[in-house]
Amino acid sequence: MNTNHSLAQRDFSVLWHPCTQMQDHETFPIIPIKKAQGVWLEDYDGQRYLDAISSWWVNLFGHANTHINAALKDQLDNLEQVIFAGFSHEPAIKLAEKLIEVTPDGLSRCFYADNGSAAVEVALKMSFHYWRNKGRAAKTKFITLENSYHGETLGALAVGNVPLYKETYAPLLMNVISVPSPDCYYREAGESWVDYSTRRFALMEQTLQQHADTVCAVIIEPLVQCAGNMRMYDAVYLTLLREACDKYQVHLIADEIAVGFGRTGTLFACEQASITPDFMCLSKGLTGGYLPLSAVLTTDEVYQAFYDDYVKLNAFLHSHSYTGNALACRAGLATLEIFQQQGIIEKNCQLAKTMAKVATRFHDHPQVAEVRQTGMILAIELVKNKHTKEPYPWQERRGLKVYQYALSKGVLLRPLGNVIYFMPPYIITEEELLLLAEVAWQGIQHAV
Ligand code: PMP
Repeated sequence: MNTNHSLAQRDFSVLWHPCTQMQDHETFPIIPIKKAQGVWLEDYDGQRYLDAISSWWVNLFGHANTHINAALKDQLDNLEQVIFAGFSHEPAIKLAEKLIEVTPDGLSRCFYADNGSAAVEVALKMSFHYWRNKGRAAKTKFITLENSYHGETLGALAVGNVPLYKETYAPLLMNVISVPSPDCYYREAGESWVDYSTRRFALMEQTLQQHADTVCAVIIEPLVQCAGNMRMYDAVYLTLLREACDKYQVHLIADEIAVGFGRTGTLFACEQASITPDFMCLSKGLTGGYLPLSAVLTTDEVYQAFYDDYVKLNAFLHSHSYTGNALACRAGLATLEIFQQQGIIEKNCQLAKTMAKVATRFHDHPQVAEVRQTGMILAIELVKNKHTKEPYPWQERRGLKVYQYALSKGVLLRPLGNVIYFMPPYIITEEELLLLAEVAWQGIQHAV
């Protein structure tokens, strides 16, 4: 019979896990999950874990969700996958129609890929290719924010800016122009998020002014730099950025892979700035956390620049074998149905308040520099010195101690460095949030 131990051993012999120093698993075995229901995961020894990070930010409505399960079972009996060049299917068409309906006005074309990084690659290539088709071949560069993250493939890694992931591969990556982030963690005492974000925009404006002729696009994570330790900024930055991109004829790529689908309080973060980007990248929550799928939404203006006689060789020839996978598209449709039928955005408003309430006690903790929140993302920044914000040396791996402690208490928290965050499925109850906060509190006591 399978047990945690037997499976962990077999795993350790043959598998290589993502974002992991495998040697850590000599002393801290991997946890094999047997089944999951709602916000709860269950391992082979019967221990349960509250999935406080939505299984890497993908799960929106719980595991084994009855609505998504039923849709997938139906889809499975009809069509699982078909080549998406020359062929199509109803779930892909319906999902594109829905996405165009719910994303900001002006986005009218949907290109599918199969994971977040691939969507970022698509957006970068489309932007570059658009300018080339328009006779602006000198536009070859991208502007990105410090502390940003856009994925792990070489193009996506190049436009990201988290040194931990990027530095090793630097010799392989295209050069990008990095602009200091509006990340409000660094605002002056008493300065508002709006004021700080506005002030920081001056650096972006200068860069755009200086490089507009050679820049294709600015790529940005709207409102929250998630992998960059859940750092947050005000929507005013996005409003100013949209204006400036128009002024300097540079595309705006909104990477909503992590923040899309209700995470920041609105269905999409761009709504809070009332802007329409030229490209919007979606993935993660797109299928409710069921299957890999991504989409790049763009404008008719962009689409038309590729629509031409074949012999002009202007077409966008990018492809992935699993483009528009039928099962994944059907899961996407079921996910959007839940949003619409169950008033999720309105309900999350209340849930976000409950999250704030259960985290109140952390504000005064002597090792917490900041508790910050944007919608359904709440982050607690642990530091060595609360007043100077001096961080703990990364080698001490304080976050890891919180992670291990929380697991022993049946909660899956996976801190980013020394930042502990809650990013739960939207079906979490107040009682479960209280449990989460209590375990996080104890975990911090244990780690500092
Ligand atoms: N962009 C953002 C903002 C992300 O948070 C992520 C994943 N954490 C990605 C892109 C990459 O997505 P994937 O892991 O599916 O390649």
